[in-house]
Amino acid sequence: MEYILKNYRKFPILIVLLILVESIAIKIGHTKNIEMEKKICIIPIGSIDKEILYYTQKELAERFNMKIDLGEEQEDPNYAYNKKRRQYHSTRILKRIHNLKLSGYDRILGIADVDLFVPELTFVFGEADIARKVALISLVRLRQEFCDLPEDIALFKKRTVTEAVHELGHTYGLRHCTNSNCVMFFSNTLGDTDRKGPTFCDTCTKTINNGKKL
Ligand SMILES: [Zn+2]
Ligand SMILES: [Zn+2]
Repeated sequence: MEYILKNYRKFPILIVLLILVESIAIKIGHTKNIEMEKKICIIPIGSIDKEILYYTQKELAERFNMKIDLGEEQEDPNYAYNKKRRQYHSTRILKRIHNLKLSGYDRILGIADVDLFVPELTFVFGEADIARKVALISLVRLRQEFCDLPEDIALFKKRTVTEAVHELGHTYGLRHCTNSNCVMFFSNTLGDTDRKGPTFCDTCTKTINNGKKL
């Protein structure tokens, strides 16, 4: 290369060609890196128990076969509080997460420890913004204590992962599934959440694998 540069007058076309080849190589390398680095970021909305964050991170990494980052803790979502309902408007929190404009992530999952609602429903376990590829879940109703039952950490963790996988599933283009043992089945109650668990049925697995290539 040095020899060619010193004698550039003799090899102008060769130099142009070398630069072209190099820039194409950089472009290919760049695309490959992005492909390899597809990852999901978990964003704690307010203060969230670290143990549940780490557990969800580990489980999602295995289930989606992707790197899962833990993002910076965000402020308490007082901006989404509805005094009348004494709940938090999940769509507003989703918007706020999207507005963080985090780059380099395939999907973003917010985890909140406040009770969530959308105007049409009395409450939601979570919500997904399919177009913006952002999802949100609430931990509040996943604890046994919410129903005045004794604490069950293992069950709470399983429910959290189930809801996280469900909402992220929506961001990969999955709709509600009619198979009541599939994670994409609509949970109306915790009974539904516990029965279905965090696993996709075969049909949803195929759809999600196609979605991940998008
Ligand atoms: Zn759903
Ligand atoms: Zn399914």
